[in-house]
Amino acid sequence: MDKVIIVGGGPVGLSAAVSLAQQGIGSLLIEKHPTTTNHPKARGVNGRTRELFRSWGIDEALKPYQLPKEAYRLTWIEDFQGREITQVRATVDYSPFSPTSNSVVSQDVVEQELLKKAQSLPLIDLRFNTQMVDLSQDDEQVTVRIVDRETEQSETITAPYLIAADGANSSIRRLLNIEMEGQDNLGEFCNIYCEMDLDKYVKDRPSVGFMLTRPDLRGTFILSKDGQRKWLIGIRIDSRPDLTKEMFTDEFCIEYVKKIVNDPQVQIRLINKAFWTMAALIAQRYRMGRVFLAGDAAHRLPPTGGFGMNTGIQDAHNLAWKLAMVIRKEADDSLLDTYYSERVQIAQTNTKWTASNAQRFVKIFTALAQNDLPTFEEALRDQAHHINNILLDLGFIYGQEYQNQEVYRPTTQVGARAPHCWIKKGDQELSTLDLYNRQFVLVCHPAAQHWQDQFCRFPCKIVTIGERGDYQDKEQNFLKTYEISPQGAVLVRPDGHVAWRASDEKGPMPDFPWLKIGDKR
Ligand SMILES: Cc1cc2nc3c(=O)[nH]c(=O)nc-3n(C[C@H](O)[C@H](O)[C@H](O)COP(=O)(O)OP(=O)(O)OC[C@H]3O[C@@H](n4cnc5c(N)ncnc54)[C@H](O)[C@@H]3O)c2cc1C
Repeated sequence: MDKVIIVGGGPVGLSAAVSLAQQGIGSLLIEKHPTTTNHPKARGVNGRTRELFRSWGIDEALKPYQLPKEAYRLTWIEDFQGREITQVRATVDYSPFSPTSNSVVSQDVVEQELLKKAQSLPLIDLRFNTQMVDLSQDDEQVTVRIVDRETEQSETITAPYLIAADGANSSIRRLLNIEMEGQDNLGEFCNIYCEMDLDKYVKDRPSVGFMLTRPDLRGTFILSKDGQRKWLIGIRIDSRPDLTKEMFTDEFCIEYVKKIVNDPQVQIRLINKAFWTMAALIAQRYRMGRVFLAGDAAHRLPPTGGFGMNTGIQDAHNLAWKLAMVIRKEADDSLLDTYYSERVQIAQTNTKWTASNAQRFVKIFTALAQNDLPTFEEALRDQAHHINNILLDLGFIYGQEYQNQEVYRPTTQVGARAPHCWIKKGDQELSTLDLYNRQFVLVCHPAAQHWQDQFCRFPCKIVTIGERGDYQDKEQNFLKTYEISPQGAVLVRPDGHVAWRASDEKGPMPDFPWLKIGDKR
């Protein structure tokens, strides 16, 4: 079988299937549950992930589920009857930098739309209610045994490559003896997902989340699933001597939520609950032969800052074009090793930052417990750093370190995400980002004849932007944003990252050691 096997139908497995299909590569996706998740874990869908969703045609479908912009804040309250302490807002304006922006939409809805997309693509074969139970590989292929959980029928299938998107407890990672490095057991939590009408308490202060400071509720937060009726209550259990995991029966969960709301009029319907452990762990390698780890199987990030799902979806997108080129024999195997070198750096940065956000919360609750008001107030102000992170979102550059997550400057340095500019063709208005998906693209001004001649035997599409070009430069900012003169050019990879650039007509052609086709010169 030529299809890539994907184990796991969470956001990362589904994104891997869609990204591969976008590259013209088929996949067989195996998911042990009968459906996608009904528990809204992640809510923060960042700008870069939305740019990918735009290129897959699902961004519009997700818009009705996004919380309104004014809700992008964390509100600190004693409880719903008590005093409001402060609000911390997301303040960064994405509009100069992206056709999308960061957003708040819950993971169950994201998975639902990814699933619909996957179902619409003939290259994707979806097998839900099916578990992978064994895996082996040799130089030629990967062999897995899968079991249909309804009929208990087992089947053996082979593929040239396998993507392990089987989550934080990845059985594939364990089968391959790949160790995780970092910190485990950073906190034990129970999530209570329920339905209740909190309108009168939240309508004047819509918020992604409410943090509760009442002494008997410390370590409790309540996150909005839809801004209206559905809420996810998170409780840190291990730091509370009065709580154990065993206590969280359905009745106890409802009683706990009643304590938070503190209003006997509010009816509470428990939808489900889940236990999870916070960790900051990264796999020592993402590749073993023909098997690649992606998403939570490769890294477990603290959820503080909302980067776990985003990092995983972007792993899948980074891997898909590389697998496609190797499968099509356009690149040699060494291209696949760049998946780890590029993505582990992102996982390290995002893990470090989300772990520091977790510490920011600890600082607040410690100061509260010690009645240390100056530290409490300073720690609250510091929360602004938690939710403003455009550099980590749009500005990460493969192969480069970066520091300040609040400032993003578009650049075409090699490894950066190629910047967004509005362009036009007739009545059609689009972003430069819409040009990058299936193949390498050389973007330049029509005057850059030298590079257009040089690249005509290179495996890429040539697109000119400017007067008499393929597209008009709508805001006259293409050359400046792309840091080139009218004679320069930028080569963009299928995942939208810069592969090469020449600021004018001087300089050598790119020389990619893994490339097997075209005239490399
Ligand atoms: C409270 C909370 C809040 C969070 N908030 C955010 C946020 O705001 N933003 C963000 O980006 N991230 C957030 N996250 C993290 C996010 O939920 C995860 O990073 C994301 O679910 C990882 O996706 P995944 O596809 O890698 O793994 P999963 O979602 O765990 O999916 C793995 C899938 O593999 C399947 N599977 C496992 N083994 C097998 C097998 N042997 N055979 C077949 N199928 C198998 C499982 O059933 C599962 O469906 C949050 C997490 C929590 C707990």
